[in-house]
Amino acid sequence: MEILNYINGEWVKPVVREYVEVINPATGVVEARTPVCGTAEVDAAAGAAAEALPGWRRMPAQDRVQFLFRLKFLMEEQLDLISRTITNECGKTYDEAKAEMRRAIENVEVACGIPMLSKGEISEDIAPGIDEIMLRQPVGVCATIAPFNFPGMIPFWYLPYALACGNTYVIKPSEKVPMTMQVIFRLVEQLGLPKGVINMVNGTKEAVDGILDHPAIRGITFVGSTPVAKYIYRRSAENGKRVQAQGGAKNPVIVMPDADMEMAVKIIADSAFGCAGQRCLAVSLGVTVGEARNSFVEMICDAAASRKVGYGLEAGVQMGPVINQASRGRIEGLIGLGASEGASVLVDGRGTTVAGYEAGTFVRPTILADVKPGSEIARTEIFGPVLSLMHVKDIDEAIALTNSGTYGNQASLFTSSGYAARRFRYEANAGNIGINIGVAAPMAFFPFSGWRESFFGDLHGQGMDAVEFFTQKKVVVERWPKEWSRTF
Ligand code: NAD
Repeated sequence: MEILNYINGEWVKPVVREYVEVINPATGVVEARTPVCGTAEVDAAAGAAAEALPGWRRMPAQDRVQFLFRLKFLMEEQLDLISRTITNECGKTYDEAKAEMRRAIENVEVACGIPMLSKGEISEDIAPGIDEIMLRQPVGVCATIAPFNFPGMIPFWYLPYALACGNTYVIKPSEKVPMTMQVIFRLVEQLGLPKGVINMVNGTKEAVDGILDHPAIRGITFVGSTPVAKYIYRRSAENGKRVQAQGGAKNPVIVMPDADMEMAVKIIADSAFGCAGQRCLAVSLGVTVGEARNSFVEMICDAAASRKVGYGLEAGVQMGPVINQASRGRIEGLIGLGASEGASVLVDGRGTTVAGYEAGTFVRPTILADVKPGSEIARTEIFGPVLSLMHVKDIDEAIALTNSGTYGNQASLFTSSGYAARRFRYEANAGNIGINIGVAAPMAFFPFSGWRESFFGDLHGQGMDAVEFFTQKKVVVERWPKEWSRTF
């Protein structure tokens, strides 16, 4: 597939010297080459968005969302094509790709309610004859910088809200997975949007820096790793922009002795190994409490060892490859590091090959046991199908362990005790909590939360938070005395 930019309503072939190869992580086939664009392309996109802004802003919100209704139906119609594209560039299974797109579409649906969600407020007679009004106005040109692991869904935590709230928009997809947004923009093209309302620039750090420094861009959303999130947050803030930046994760799951063990094992395996562990809500630290260890360890090892790994478009495959060779090397290195720190490798996914897909970057599910709290393997985000097991004696220790890490994306608890569940919900220092849930991914009408080193900012993506982020409040205090009126 040829990777183009989309600027001012036109597909543009950028003139660049450098490309990043997009390799299908299961087959090893080069699917595309991402052009590494720079400030010239960002300037063109931001300029087009700035020019489109006054007209788009003036369009009534109820007219703006009509484009989103059309986009929803086009996305539904092309769900199969989009999902296949995701599998081929990102590696996850077809079903996982489809589930990802369902959440993307759900965000379009929620944003269709923006005429109501973005309406203002008025208080009459705050003093005799004086009224106070709060209006929500668009922020201006906004941009999203996206990660590789959800090429279709993550841009939709922002894009539909930005547009419906009257902003114009630039997206920079991950250079590792540029194809999905090419397919989606073929649908955007059919909407008949005014030129420049939505633009796409492909590239890497140089394009990102161009976005962060561009004076016309007023709001930035980012999803990716924590070091880059911190950088985006700092540089955007220095430039006076509104910013939110989602970062990495190291998500604990606590298994109490009273948990329904069969259910817990199935759900925890799906969370740890689904999407090959490349999900910011994947559980990666399995903490057994008291007697839970006796049955859980053996059962989760069986679940890990029996998972069918392969090319995500083949029927029956439960887990695809990780994104690329570099990632595989890093994950395998971290498994080795865990072993050198004293962990036992109970199920070892290193050196995996899948017959017929020898060029694929597969890592089978891996279980490390007796991982020491505070060790590097217990602290570092692996972003692969590796579950590190630890053991504690009671819920107090489990909560202390949950809160001892630096990330705060998700924490889960499996139990049949309402008391334990409530305590955990109350005390766990994470933005997304799962109670008997392995991937606590918020629906589109809730914010996609994240705390501590997993998030920098205050307003999140999705739902009302996104409406708040993509609008700025203006407060008007008005006095209209009778004596000034000629008509009375
Ligand atoms: P990444 O940080 O490497 O890249 C994300 C984006 O930043 C890409 O568009 C990339 O081009 C750009 N980028 C990379 N390095 C940069 C630099 N030095 N300067 C400026 N821009 C740069 O992340 P990734 O590998 O694509 O995605 C995986 C990470 O994303 C994991 O850490 C995962 O936990 C995290 N993630 C978090 C969430 C969340 O909601 N918290 C969701 C999905 C993924």
